Amino acid sequence: MSDNTKIEVPLLDLKAQYATIKQEVREAIDEVCDAQWFVMGPKVKELEERIADYTQCSEAIGVSSGTDALLVALMALEVGRGDAVITTPYTFFATGGAVSRLGARPIFCDIDSETYNICPSAVRDLITRECVVANGVVTHKASGTVVKALMPVHLYGQTADMDALLDIANEFGLPIVEDAAQSIGSEYSSGQRAGSKGAIGCFSFFPSKNLGAFGDGGMCTTNDESLAERMRVLRLHGGKPKYYHSLVGGNFRLDAIQAAILLVKLKSLDDWTATRQSNAAFYDQAFADAGLASKVSTPKTLTGKRHIYNQYVLRVQSRDELRQYLGSANIGSEIYYPVPLHLQKCFADLGYKEGDCPKSESAANETIAVPVYPELSREQQQYVVDTIASFYNQ
Ligand SMILES: *Cc1c(COP(=O)(O)O)cnc(C)c1O
Repeated sequence: MSDNTKIEVPLLDLKAQYATIKQEVREAIDEVCDAQWFVMGPKVKELEERIADYTQCSEAIGVSSGTDALLVALMALEVGRGDAVITTPYTFFATGGAVSRLGARPIFCDIDSETYNICPSAVRDLITRECVVANGVVTHKASGTVVKALMPVHLYGQTADMDALLDIANEFGLPIVEDAAQSIGSEYSSGQRAGSKGAIGCFSFFPSKNLGAFGDGGMCTTNDESLAERMRVLRLHGGKPKYYHSLVGGNFRLDAIQAAILLVKLKSLDDWTATRQSNAAFYDQAFADAGLASKVSTPKTLTGKRHIYNQYVLRVQSRDELRQYLGSANIGSEIYYPVPLHLQKCFADLGYKEGDCPKSESAANETIAVPVYPELSREQQQYVVDTIASFYNQ
């Protein structure tokens, strides 16, 4: 290996991205400051129109975060105490947390080992084995809760198998809430965009997402006008008209400054996505060339899908040792996610144990995300590959 002691590769470099749009972002912020309209307002409305367009949905509702997008979506579907939602345990905590916060029960269903997304045949098995279906109501036998929704996550930037999930959802009368927090602009194999096929799509503008704000923000999308109307009311404490409350909602409003910044960034999103994809393709080839196939599996991208690579995740041998080695070579990495939700302490009362979702558990032990952000140089990428090769060849 050449003398690479000066190379550093952070997991994400938002400063590099900011440098390319600084002027325009500053002007957009100034505009909001001059208008002194900080919450909701015309910028939020404009962003909603653009995101509806971008995600191929008829309606988009700006909210305060991706987490709140999930919460508002489930509230709009009237998920509450005595209910359950079938979801994946291999995800960011918010997915299961949103269900639990409403007093409902997350029912965790294992993933597909190659895409890390919820496995449709496992969902069908779970409904067949663990639920009774009568009069169009799906009841979870062990807990007596009523299954109200199916919530897949489009993990790392690649959509779950929506066609198969929709077949199941339609058969059992369950709406789908798509957790598309990591997948803005991802496409299903049918070519449509994430968030457009389920009852509601949920997006996050957390700074590390592909379209990231300068703080928190989120969006719900739908093609159902009455759900859209419910979500619009729920985000304003359920008041419509103002101060007249027929529903209990919350403060789930989006800030105008975030919307203004996102409107600027949205213009570059397709370029950034293309660069992430080309970085991923470079890694695929470079790892193949390095002859590491027995130690390192590169991500499986299904043909026909538009993968936006929010993360580039490897499945590797000796993951924790590799991570340490990368750290000492100034290469950022992260584990998404080290503890699947069914084994989180806060969900102990749900009664899951190790071995209940074996594919999620092995993914949690064997995967590692390496830098794939758009501003990476080929030199940095090659350094990542060379460092991983030298770890296994030492
Ligand atoms: C980021 C994320 C969320 C939550 O979004 P926030 O904007 O951080 O609240 C939910 N689900 C998944 C899969 C995420 O990656």
